[in-house]
Amino acid sequence: MKMYDVTGTIYEGMTVYKDKPEKQPKLNTETNGYVTETRLEVDVHTGTHIDAPLHMIEQGETFETIPLDSLVGQCKVLDLTDVEDGVTKKDLEAFDIQKGDFILFKTKNSFEEAFNFEFIFLKKDGAEYLSEIGIRGVGTDALGIERSQEGHPTHKTLFNNNVIIIEGLRLKEVAGGDYFMVAAPLKLHGTDAAPARIMLFEGLN
Ligand SMILES: [Zn+2]
Repeated sequence: MKMYDVTGTIYEGMTVYKDKPEKQPKLNTETNGYVTETRLEVDVHTGTHIDAPLHMIEQGETFETIPLDSLVGQCKVLDLTDVEDGVTKKDLEAFDIQKGDFILFKTKNSFEEAFNFEFIFLKKDGAEYLSEIGIRGVGTDALGIERSQEGHPTHKTLFNNNVIIIEGLRLKEVAGGDYFMVAAPLKLHGTDAAPARIMLFEGLN
């Protein structure tokens, strides 16, 4: 059995959405020589994280409504490294995607460390297609599942169909195929997202 840690590392100076300075984590360490304690200030959308509906839907559900058993189980990594611009319905039709699947996109994003304002995202028609199939969740290797679509239709379509959204995966070392996923978010209450540690296991079925 092989394990892949597909989580981004959190540190001051890490890659954050649109390079916004206010999105940088802050680590304040205090020490008196024998006791050291660090206070971490972090945006809930930092690095690898899971969104809750409240993020894009007014009065939407908050993080604790996402059941942990939806975040643990089989998943499919789709090799979409040839895709330019955005993932469409047509790109997704090439794969065997079934109701209840949790799918992860491996795109060009996984090979970039700096924030790319033209990151590969999930287009509206792709989000509608996945919602029609009735997948359990979708993960992407960009810090956002969507960019430059007015009104955020990708987020809204997925949330309205109870599709869980993971953002910020690091999949460079992971080949397309089937894995067992353990996605373990911080146990936050009332928030619109939570940072998560995510591991994929090969050969564990
Ligand atoms: Zn997010």
